[in-house]
This record gives sequence, structure tokens and C-alpha cells, in this order.
Amino acid sequence: MFDKPAFAGHESVHHVYDAKTSLRAIIAIHSTVRGPAAGGCRMWNYATSDDALIDALRLSEGMSYKNAMADLPLGGGKAVIWGNSRTDKTPELFRGFGRAIESLNGRYWSAEDVGVSVQDMAYAAEETKYVSGLSTGKAASGDPSPVTAKGVFLGLKAAALRVFGTDDLNGRHIAVQGVGHVGAYLCSHLAKAGAKLTITDVNPEALDTVARTTGARVVPPNEIYDVEADIFSPNALGAILNPDTLPRLRVKVVAGGANNQLATPGMGDRLREQGVLYAPDYVINGGGIINVAAEISGAYDPAWVEAKLQRLILTLGEVLDGAKSDGRATNRVADEMARQRIAG
Ligand code: NAD
Repeated sequence: MFDKPAFAGHESVHHVYDAKTSLRAIIAIHSTVRGPAAGGCRMWNYATSDDALIDALRLSEGMSYKNAMADLPLGGGKAVIWGNSRTDKTPELFRGFGRAIESLNGRYWSAEDVGVSVQDMAYAAEETKYVSGLSTGKAASGDPSPVTAKGVFLGLKAAALRVFGTDDLNGRHIAVQGVGHVGAYLCSHLAKAGAKLTITDVNPEALDTVARTTGARVVPPNEIYDVEADIFSPNALGAILNPDTLPRLRVKVVAGGANNQLATPGMGDRLREQGVLYAPDYVINGGGIINVAAEISGAYDPAWVEAKLQRLILTLGEVLDGAKSDGRATNRVADEMARQRIAG
């Protein structure tokens, strides 16, 4: 493990096996410099244990960056459970995961991620207090998606202002990939602001609902990259900004909530060369972790969440402006700023 490039900079990595429940999990703690490491738990049927490890390492480093850019008193960590979330879940499995979290004495706080539900976290919470994203409890913060979507909406406007000279979205054409939790809330903000929407998803029901409520035009999933629009907003998958999709983009701005949009950091350089302003994903989508951080603090305060969100959008503006004045890609500037904040 120590020779893996993704391990670089990590404080510790914990491999968990619970014979009773067959739980196989990895908890990666990238940094606790700013505070306890916080980041969700993903359940995924990885092909190999190496794949699970690499995913945990990359995701935990990403959480350090996201938490630093949102100016939260939190470090970065992430957990992965190796298994099929549709067939391998049991309450006992998540109680076992809760015991593993508890054994770290508060160095790591967990929450939901891909394949893990609020109910799963509630089982983990029976064994540990270091779990957030719960629907009940003194400081429960519930679904983070509305706050994530609001941040993406405000960040998208900040990017529009820099490219079009106005953040008025009335009549702007925006192509949205993914209308799940974040995408649907985002489309509602965009439609209210008067934007013209083209949307796609692989889930026909989600598409129908959003198309009906916003008047959006629908295109098949693979055609979203070819839509001639002002802005492309990815809110589904990672690595969708890659050598295959970049030449197809007909937009001036990319601003969306999906994690890990760039297949490699070099894709950010290419977007800049193409004259596309990219809003770095882990900055623009930090609203959700801000909401979770309010729960971790022990007293959920909506005013604190709103103030942090507004500050996050100012930070995004600093990244976009810094990149322009330095002639560098926005993701390079964001990475540098995040590393400085983590170094203290
Ligand atoms: P979600 O599962 O509710 O929505 C994702 C949507 O993308 C689904 O409707 C799914 O059908 C669709 N999708 C899947 N494959 C697709 C494809 N090939 N083409 C088009 N659509 C496709 O998830 P979410 O919570 O809305 O999160 C969306 C993204 O935002 C993810 O990348 C997630 O990691 C990121 N994110 C979410 C939050 C949050 O608060 N939920 C916070 C930060 C980042």
C-alpha cells in the first residue's frame, strides 16, 4: 500500500474485517489537520480489494480538499464497504461498520455516499456517535441535496457572470446531465430563473417529472455532450470530462454538482485551452458537506449553513478570478489553494 501514489499524504488507512457479518471495509483518513476526518461511506462491488483501496484513498484526499475549500473545521476521510448494495446489506453489517468507526475514537465521521442510505447509517449509529446525515436526532441535518443544489446554482451564476458579463440566467440555455437528487433541485432553481433547459438521465421517471415541472427538452444520455448551449451542468457521473467528450462540448461554462468530473487534472487544462470556464467540482458542490458539518457540530443552525454557503461561492469566485489572472486552469488553482489550507 505504501508505494501506491494515491496513498501519498494519508495519515492512516484502516482495513476492517468482521467474521460475524462478513463486513469488508476500508476507512482511509487523509488528514485530521483541520479537524476530524469527515466523508461518506460508499458501498460498491469492487472487482478487487486493490480497486476498493484506491477508491477509498482518492475519495478521502478529495474530502480533505472539499472540506478545506468550504472552510470547515474538518479533515478528509472516506470509507468503502466492499459488497453489492442491492444484495449484501444487512442491519448487522452496518452495526459492524459502526463499531469500526467507534474504534477510531472520533478521528473519522461517516455519512451516506453511493449505495448507502439514511437507514443504513441509522444502524451504524446504534454503535457509534460519529455518524451524520441522519433523519432523526438533536442536530439531524437530513438530505444534503437541496443545499448542494443551491450551492451549484449560485456557483453556476458566479461562473456565468465571469463569462457572459451578467449572472442573469433568463433565456440562458443550460444542458443538465442527471436529474436525480441534486439535478432535480438544480433544474427547479434554473427554471425559476428563466433558463432554457435541455436535460438527460438514464431514469425515465426522473426525466418525465423534471421535464413536466420545468418545460425542459429531453435528449438521450449520449447526446447531452453535443447540445449547443451556454452552460453544461454535470450532475450524475464522474470522469465525464475526458478525451472523448471534450471535443464534443459546445458550451462556454461547465458547472455542476457531480464529484470527480475531470478524468484527469489535464482535462482542466484542455478545457481552458478550449475557452471553457470550468467550476471545480469539489468547490461548487460543497453545500452538502456544509450541511453535514452543521450536524457534526452538534447544533444544526440554518443561518450558519447559509453563511458558509455564501462564503463558499466567494471562494469559488476567487478560484475563477485567480485562474484568469494567472493564465492557469481553474482546477490547478483550486488544488493549490486547498493544499495551502490543509497545510495550515
Ligand atoms: P442521484 O443518484 O440522486 O442522481 C444521479 C442521477 O444521475 C440519477 O437520476 C441517475 O439515473 C442519473 N444517471 C446515472 N447515469 C447516468 C448517465 N449515464 N447519464 C445521465 N444520467 C445518469 O445522486 P445525487 O445525490 O443527485 O448526486 C449526483 C452527483 O452529485 C453525484 O456525482 C454525487 O457524488 C454528487 N454530489 C452529491 C451531493 C448530494 O448532496 N447529494 C453532494 C456532493 C456531490
